Amino acid sequence: MKKQKSKDLLVYIIRRDSQCAECGKELLHGSFLYLEKGTPLCLSCADFGHLEFLPRGDMALTLRARKNSKISVIVLQWSRTRKRYERQGVLVEQTAIEQAMKQCLSDAEFRKERRKREAMRRVELDEKYVSEFAAQIQNLFPECPRKETLRIAEYACKKYSGRVGRTAMAKEFDSQAIVLAVKAHIRHEHTNYDELLMKGRERFTARDQVENKINQILEKWQWVEDK
Ligand SMILES: [Zn+2]
Repeated sequence: MKKQKSKDLLVYIIRRDSQCAECGKELLHGSFLYLEKGTPLCLSCADFGHLEFLPRGDMALTLRARKNSKISVIVLQWSRTRKRYERQGVLVEQTAIEQAMKQCLSDAEFRKERRKREAMRRVELDEKYVSEFAAQIQNLFPECPRKETLRIAEYACKKYSGRVGRTAMAKEFDSQAIVLAVKAHIRHEHTNYDELLMKGRERFTARDQVENKINQILEKWQWVEDK
């Protein structure tokens, strides 16, 4: 039996400053905002913080990226001149964009584009904090695969740098923050949480549904075999 297609997830690029109702982060003109039953949320609180913005312009690339991504969110902005919301692009998984680029481009072009994107990402992040955070994840979760450890650290540092500034970031490196970052990663990468959101499930209901699975993986990553 085929399920009824649920409504698209939408995020707005705002023209007027706002504030996230959950974490209190200021959302300045040009930020992304998600409305959960009329309540403004930042991307992190809406659980879209791990997604990357793919601007419109290349329709084949957009279609492929959306298809490759477990979750995709349409980004809209109000056009004053045309008096309507217009699509600015989509938020999709970073790996989905890379896969789509590979499908669209030749290998040589793909490598060039990937280097460009990686350089752009690195500018946003402070390498030192990323590696410190990664080391602390490894301490707490020695069985977490290396590649995933790095991705968790990158995302966490991106999130904290926007919120508290770099000087205060070190303070955020307590074990609680690390557990939360690892849990969020597991939720998106190892459970069907994103699919549940795509089906229109509410955030907290969906979180409850995947909680057990998350804890199982957390335990596995903590566990070190006697050698
Ligand atoms: Zn927030």
